[in-house]
Amino acid sequence: MGIEAFIKAPAKLNLHLRVLNRREDGYHEINSIMIPVSLYDFIYVRTLSEETIEILTESDNIPKGKDNLLWIAADRFFKSSGIKGGVSIKIVKNIPVAAGLGGGSSDAARLLVLLNSIFKNALTFTTLHNIAKEIGADVPFFLRCKSSIARGIGDILEEIPHIPSFWYVLVCPPVRVSTKWAYENVKLELTGYENSNNISFQDIEDFSVSEILRNDLEEVVSERYPVVKEIENLLSKTEPEGVLMSGSGPSVFGIYKDIDDAKEAKDIMISHQVGDVFLVKEI
Ligand code: ATP
Repeated sequence: MGIEAFIKAPAKLNLHLRVLNRREDGYHEINSIMIPVSLYDFIYVRTLSEETIEILTESDNIPKGKDNLLWIAADRFFKSSGIKGGVSIKIVKNIPVAAGLGGGSSDAARLLVLLNSIFKNALTFTTLHNIAKEIGADVPFFLRCKSSIARGIGDILEEIPHIPSFWYVLVCPPVRVSTKWAYENVKLELTGYENSNNISFQDIEDFSVSEILRNDLEEVVSERYPVVKEIENLLSKTEPEGVLMSGSGPSVFGIYKDIDDAKEAKDIMISHQVGDVFLVKEI
């Protein structure tokens, strides 16, 4: 009988996403504010003595074999640590897939953290960070799951000590957006990246929603997926502090100071039947 363990994998929202220059390896440099929020996938693991990685899921939306980011994370963990063994992973998907919420990245990072704790810190944090970065640009953020300014390709993270507290109504329409496609099609000449001032802690301390909220991928994604604009317009009518698409979309969120306003907005958005609706908070 192996060791059994469980970990939650939260979604993220981007309150700010500037796309800067494209690097030779195809990745874009970004300047972003990422916050972890209270919408979770559940990951259950059981260690195995044989060298096998098994993925169990009832979700039809994610791969069940070697393409699953959980499989890749487990494989890298065992190879890097030299531990001879395997793991059976059950994933309960609650975070919509390819929705700009970082679900797959979160699953991979949280599994790395869980395996490292089961195997008594076999890997240093630096090694975990390097593995995470190889799996994907958003993965390192989920190792610590702290609201951060993200730079580089998203892997250079600076924790934000005091993020203003808000409620978020998140609306996820039933379309999937490829992150790669969104970055490849962003019109860099229109984002004005050369003149952009990087976001700073000062900006966040004096949090003015209208100044912070910006997503350079929003235009290209909403041109191809008009439902993004439709949801933004509907959310705007609920008198939020602001509205923005998260990451490469298509999820859109409205920001509220007061929980009752947020609950009311959630009910209104459910009645419009434009997608799944969640009321979340930063964690
Ligand atoms: P990001 O915001 O990090 O760019 P996303 O939230 O838009 O990502 P994900 O939900 O992470 O997108 O899914 C991206 C792709 O990864 C999908 O095509 C999906 O099939 C694949 N994938 C592989 N493993 C997983 C997983 N465990 N959970 C979700 N998606 C996975």
